[in-house]
Amino acid sequence: MFNKFRNLELTMVTKGNASVQRIGVIGAGIGGLAAAVRLARRGYSVSVFERSGKPGGKIGEWHSKGYRFDTGPSLFTLPALLNEILDPDLHLSLIKLKLLSRNFFSDGAVIDIPADPEMFSKTVAHATGTQASMLQKYLNHAREVYQLTAPAFIFRSLHDWSSLFRIQNLRYLWQWPRLHAFSTLHSFNTRRLRHPKLVQMMDRFATYNGSDPYRTPATMAVIAHLENNLGAWLPKQGMHSVVDALVQQALRLGVNFHLSTSVERIEPDNDGYSLWIGENHHHFNKIISNIDIHQFYSHVLPDASRLKRITTTERSTSALIFYWGMGAAFPQLDIHNVLFSSNYPEEFDNLFNKKQISPDPTVYIYISSKTIDNDAPEGCENWFVMVNAPENTGQDWETIRSQTRQAIIHKINKTLRTDVEPLIKTERHLDPVAIETLTGSWRGSLYGASSNSRFSAFARHDNRHPVYRNLYFTGGSVHPGGGIPLCLASAKIVDQLIEKESKR
Ligand SMILES: Cc1cc2nc3c(=O)[nH]c(=O)nc-3n(C[C@H](O)[C@H](O)[C@H](O)COP(=O)(O)OP(=O)(O)OC[C@H]3O[C@@H](n4cnc5c(N)ncnc54)[C@H](O)[C@@H]3O)c2cc1C
Repeated sequence: MFNKFRNLELTMVTKGNASVQRIGVIGAGIGGLAAAVRLARRGYSVSVFERSGKPGGKIGEWHSKGYRFDTGPSLFTLPALLNEILDPDLHLSLIKLKLLSRNFFSDGAVIDIPADPEMFSKTVAHATGTQASMLQKYLNHAREVYQLTAPAFIFRSLHDWSSLFRIQNLRYLWQWPRLHAFSTLHSFNTRRLRHPKLVQMMDRFATYNGSDPYRTPATMAVIAHLENNLGAWLPKQGMHSVVDALVQQALRLGVNFHLSTSVERIEPDNDGYSLWIGENHHHFNKIISNIDIHQFYSHVLPDASRLKRITTTERSTSALIFYWGMGAAFPQLDIHNVLFSSNYPEEFDNLFNKKQISPDPTVYIYISSKTIDNDAPEGCENWFVMVNAPENTGQDWETIRSQTRQAIIHKINKTLRTDVEPLIKTERHLDPVAIETLTGSWRGSLYGASSNSRFSAFARHDNRHPVYRNLYFTGGSVHPGGGIPLCLASAKIVDQLIEKESKR
């Protein structure tokens, strides 16, 4: 799959016009690729340096024995953020999900969440004996939270005080109490939704950015708006086609890619930065770092005091994932399936306080072959089986992996009333150590810092360096946070900052 990117091992091309400003992007994760596309479109000469042999970072893919697996993200929301930077012919073919998830509970109950908000309200109200109007009200509230927060807090630099305190943003601050930022997501959901299963399903949104529903603020209900009101998609060629489209667009705009090239350090000089690779260095007027902010301050531009601030901020969760090529099809399952823990508070206590995986973890199974035929041989399925894991603090992952694998199989067997283990035809796993090694994410956390406090949004690193000019940051470990849409938003913010500063 990635062979087609091998020929991206290009040499530095200096554009004919000496006045063209040169931008170096460190890291070809989605935030780096999107920033490269945006700035190349503005006429900058952009070069991307990627340590790995392929672009995409956490958005990966694995092929084995006729099965294809998305190894990272499985849920695609807010596709408009991608399309707005792609030429129309590169827009992805997307399948809009009809069913957002199928939820299994330990007492045998199964609750489907249809994508249509009205059907969601009716179906879930029926399944839980609650009122459809209550659910509709919840989704309306989630929409309102998005409308109040997105313009000022998601699509803008939070640290650009002049833009944050513009008159139109002040009205958002004025309506701050409507966000219920002083309640936790769980207490808000309990008050608004009451039914424990319904509360648990909506509490799960905290995990979309690796946080704890019993601590994260109720503003996290905003995710229900993205998924339940706006919808979720699956690209017809799998999640990695998001990366393919960005790379194609970048190449079309003349971006230079340097794969298998690790940036060791940058040094500020007269008119920008020297970017060092081994003994060689290249000069750039501006640098955009897309790598984990911890790695940036520990290696690329060492800064003990900024590093301390990052190391004292609680990390988001990591994951333990098994990719199983299954030799059978399971009509009981849909594309996105959640087998809930019978003790959700204990699961999060384990993740954040004990730094363990719960003995009864919530198991998420994603099966793209339910809708993409070529993703598994006829009559078979590609299972992506994930449980939330704590950040890597040096635990014995081999033991944890083997215990958790057994717990997962036990839970699936009980739910599906069959023995799935003999049906596994091909297998691979990813754990927090591997996530750290492969993508540079400190301690393997999926989304940088957690959002377990109401001040988390303000604690994330800015999209530009507070002291050095012409040094910018994108990606999941900086503002506005992790997940594909927010990483795309970080690239949009950097683009706006560079454009604004170029006019000064
Ligand atoms: C298992 C899993 C499931 C997920 N599920 C979802 C989901 O369903 N939906 C969703 O929206 N998000 C999901 N996410 C999160 C999402 O994938 C990430 O937030 C996003 O892809 C991070 O992009 P990024 O721009 O921060 O770059 P990253 O993906 O972190 O990439 C950074 C890149 O920098 C490179 N690099 C590091 N150091 C150097 C160096 N010194 N020199 C050059 N290059 C370097 C790395 O090799 C890497 O390619 C998931 C993530 C994982 C791992």
